[in-house]
Amino acid sequence: MRRKLAAGNWKMHGTGADLAEIATLARTHADPACEVLICPPATLIERAAREVRGSALMIGAQDCHSAPEGAHTGDISPAMIRDAGAGHVILGHSERRQDHAETSALVRAKAMAALDAGLVTIICLGETLPDRESGATLDIIGQQLAGSTPDAARGENTVIAYEPVWAIGSGHVAHPDQIAEVHGFLRERLTHRFGTGVAAMIRLLYGGSVKPANAAGIFAIPDVDGALVGGASLRAESFSPIISALEQAAAGI
Ligand code: PEP
Repeated sequence: MRRKLAAGNWKMHGTGADLAEIATLARTHADPACEVLICPPATLIERAAREVRGSALMIGAQDCHSAPEGAHTGDISPAMIRDAGAGHVILGHSERRQDHAETSALVRAKAMAALDAGLVTIICLGETLPDRESGATLDIIGQQLAGSTPDAARGENTVIAYEPVWAIGSGHVAHPDQIAEVHGFLRERLTHRFGTGVAAMIRLLYGGSVKPANAAGIFAIPDVDGALVGGASLRAESFSPIISALEQAAAGI
């Protein structure tokens, strides 16, 4: 009932030459059994959107401002993202929370602006290693979820990505029990806030060192509706097997 989603986050990687990776994915996964999204840097959104036109692949952004326009040098608004041809935006990634001191309140403001502009938001949450080691994981996740998610969140406009900070780019994927615990907790919290019907439709992605070798195991965990993938999404040869693993999970294979 929830359509699975393989989302690639290119972060600050990629120039025009790398659009060939997107073209390859669009050809390889012409009729995918799951949704496939690539979020390139802002400079590539328009060209990437042109590249996937007529295919099943979708293009997203990695951040947006909370205002529709204004004196915000260097920022881009949700409407600009739409205008460039993207339909999704990643918000509250731990690298933005850390590098730009983004709070959950700001992430929520950005999410509300993105929803107003008709974008699907992918709201990222995750605990640091000290949080986990001190037993604070669920407290932190609960606070980030409550603080970052707008009241207008629904299955069709909001995706939640659980990304333990210590698992991102480290090669240390979270243990299946850890992922299952957090995803179960997220579903429960969403149910408490939005009711069963809405909560059941909001997709929960796992992110953190997802690779071709571990993807199938992660996708077998209950309440994992897909993945947010960083490093392995940069090349079609590593993202494609992850998409295929998710397609198999969607087909119940
Ligand atoms: C990410 O950037 O969201 C991410 C999960 O990165 P990686 O897959 O490289 O750990």
